[in-house]
Amino acid sequence: MTDLPIRPDLRGATPYGAPQLDVAVRLNTNENSYPLPAGLVADIAAAVGAAAAGLNRYPDREAASLRADLAGYLGLGLTVDQVWAANGSNEVIQQLLQAFGGPGRSALGFTPTYSMHPIISAGTGTVFVDGRREADFALTAAHVVDQIRRHRPDVVFLCSPNNPTGTALGRDVVAAAYDATEGMVIVDEAYAEFARPGTPSALGLLPGRLRLVVTRTMSKAFGMAGLRLGYLAADPAVVDAVRLVRLPYHLSTLTQVTARVALAHAPALLETVAAVMAQRDRIVAALPSYGLISVPSDANFVLFGGIPDATVLWQALLDRGVLVRDVGLPGWLRVTAGTEPETSAFLAALGRTTAG
Ligand SMILES: *Cc1c(COP(=O)(O)O)cnc(C)c1O
Repeated sequence: MTDLPIRPDLRGATPYGAPQLDVAVRLNTNENSYPLPAGLVADIAAAVGAAAAGLNRYPDREAASLRADLAGYLGLGLTVDQVWAANGSNEVIQQLLQAFGGPGRSALGFTPTYSMHPIISAGTGTVFVDGRREADFALTAAHVVDQIRRHRPDVVFLCSPNNPTGTALGRDVVAAAYDATEGMVIVDEAYAEFARPGTPSALGLLPGRLRLVVTRTMSKAFGMAGLRLGYLAADPAVVDAVRLVRLPYHLSTLTQVTARVALAHAPALLETVAAVMAQRDRIVAALPSYGLISVPSDANFVLFGGIPDATVLWQALLDRGVLVRDVGLPGWLRVTAGTEPETSAFLAALGRTTAG
């Protein structure tokens, strides 16, 4: 690659690379461990079969029916013109940065946060500014406003609940960030469905805030990471701006059809959310008995710490058939809350490693 005439700003960069290893217990990418319900699988097969004959035609470029269904799922009176969908929220974020970031512009995030925010920034030629969190990984309104005033970014990323810490933000933080910038504010709510009661979504802040965007995904709570369907809610003007940069027909007919069937099954699909949250809380409750600490989590994973050497523990767990995530924070690892047997396997492996 070094021999290629690659863009100078991409030289030396590394691609996103969570290990995809063939291990019994995979708790490293925050997927939903539960397989899809049989009834949904059958309905998807039928709908895809019916759509197959029409694949000689391009898909609905506007994905209008799917966006209407997504608006209906979000509720709050949101309408089709306020919702946009793409191949994963990563593509939604890329389109947002193509429209609102780019060469000569900057995006501010609050590290440690989702590793794709800087990678998508780099890919779109947007300078990513590494903002800071407090020692406990929280973010106060004053802290956020101070950093926005200092860096004057064109785009502010707020990730709530935040990956990899699980930390959710109060609405006051989002509102204060919005008031402190003239740029776009993107609230990445990939884990919103796992938030504990009383943790509000930023969706309620959308009315009257032209530059506020909330991104969501079907990869986590819906258990459809393999589908690649992410979406945003914002002012219709934001959707119009994204249309300027999206590739024509970016969302395949099969994706649109499958996502619509899944949304029709939303209540059944989301039944696993409570079970996953119970496993998350079980992990949090169990960690102290292993001499470990954790960050309060509103997501489907737990960041745990107090680890003498995270790389060593990561490998020791892998040797015992449990794959967790080394997010590059010294002394910390992240584990996804999966099924009850998966949590038991994780805790058993942890017991054997910490016992030496
Ligand atoms: C997993 C995750 C996503 C999901 O991305 P998709 O492209 O929708 O699969 C988005 N944001 C964060 C913070 C995530 O952790």
